[in-house]
Amino acid sequence: MSGIAQHLEAVRRRIRTACERCGRSPESVQLVAVSKTRPAQDILAAFQAGQTIFGENYVQELTAKVAQIHEPLQWHFIGHLQSNKVRQIAGQVSLIHSVDRFSLARELSRQWGRLGMVCNLLVQVNVSGEASKSGTTAAEALDLVRGIALLPHLQVQGLMTMPPFFDDPQEARPFFRELRQLADRISGEHIPGVSMEQLSMGMSADFEVAIEEGATLVRVGTAIFGER
Ligand SMILES: *Cc1c(COP(=O)(O)O)cnc(C)c1O
Repeated sequence: MSGIAQHLEAVRRRIRTACERCGRSPESVQLVAVSKTRPAQDILAAFQAGQTIFGENYVQELTAKVAQIHEPLQWHFIGHLQSNKVRQIAGQVSLIHSVDRFSLARELSRQWGRLGMVCNLLVQVNVSGEASKSGTTAAEALDLVRGIALLPHLQVQGLMTMPPFFDDPQEARPFFRELRQLADRISGEHIPGVSMEQLSMGMSADFEVAIEEGATLVRVGTAIFGER
């Protein structure tokens, strides 16, 4: 077994254990293997070990990998996205985790619409309010979701967040909890065409805590592929 296959198995085991601890079904959590900066061979090793969803942060890197890798894997875009680069990834990714402004959503709608496709997306919320993080504020998230819901060719599936980094993952818990509560509030508004089923939260250092707080997508890089 390759190192990557072993690491993947260990991460899956940790996901299962976290689910058991809080009475959730392991099938309710999807693992996104964050492959930014990793070569195609690492992605193929993970794919051969059964991993199907890969998360990338950079448009250029993603398009290069899409051209290079022909296995039937799913790409998610998880990084900051500039509107003028949307066209390059249109139709290539099955979910965008990082929609944080209306102008970006409008361009996603335009580019996916050109292809006759629907773009699945999550709204990224900067729960902590840290200046260095992207994301809409928790206060503005509902209005942004309402605005996006009026655009064609888009499907809002939930929310994503990145809390500050803490040495103790328990300190990230209030941020995960706040994202879940925000999703519950938005869900309660019953906005037509909007689902709040997906919560993308938790990375290598804190994904178990995120699962306990309701994560349905965990984005894990280092614990699978090693230090970047
Ligand atoms: C890099 C990255 C991750 C993965 O981080 P690790 O600590 O390596 O697991 C998750 N989400 C986003 C948005 C990232 O940029």
